[in-house]
Amino acid sequence: MAFELPKLPYAHNALEPHIDAKTMEIHHGKHHQAYVTNLNNAIKDTDTEKMSIEDICRNISKMAMPVRNNGGGHFNHSLFWTVMKPGGGGAPSGSLGDAIKTAFESFDNFKTQFGTAAATRFGSGWAWLLVADKKLKVSSTPNQDNPLMDVAEVKGTPILGLDVWEHAYYLNYQNRRPDYVAAFWNIVNWEEVAKRYAAAMK
Ligand code: MN
Repeated sequence: MAFELPKLPYAHNALEPHIDAKTMEIHHGKHHQAYVTNLNNAIKDTDTEKMSIEDICRNISKMAMPVRNNGGGHFNHSLFWTVMKPGGGGAPSGSLGDAIKTAFESFDNFKTQFGTAAATRFGSGWAWLLVADKKLKVSSTPNQDNPLMDVAEVKGTPILGLDVWEHAYYLNYQNRRPDYVAAFWNIVNWEEVAKRYAAAMK
């Protein structure tokens, strides 16, 4: 079974004005599609074809560079679309809200740490909230790497990710990455992040 581009769970223009429709169209339809196509080509007729995308990431040090780049690209974007929604934002409640306060002292402190990780990742990459040893951490990764990968500096299960490649924001924000990061807080789907948190804590 070849990997497939997941459908966007909302319309291209649903995240406006925070992320514009044109960016979503190109990001999902062209960039993510290319990662899926290139991943499928890279693993065709190999044993990797039978692995889940998560297991591919967990064993990435044994994979060729096209699998790392495109497999990471497929996993990361598949997560990214689901952790945003129109009318999102606010602050998480319940056990995720409590865990953020325990790990980062306050929700505002968490946002500052995550925003710093996103702003200071040089060049292309991702900022993450992840679960490692049942604790929450913030990290960033270069290119299309992610915390699931056995090569990651900070390893764990990512539950929230922000794409800081220029293709994710350049049309609307140009060089103003911090403005894009600030806008992201208005569209975070905390219910989805809480679901991923609960699954990672099992
Ligand atoms: Mn991207």
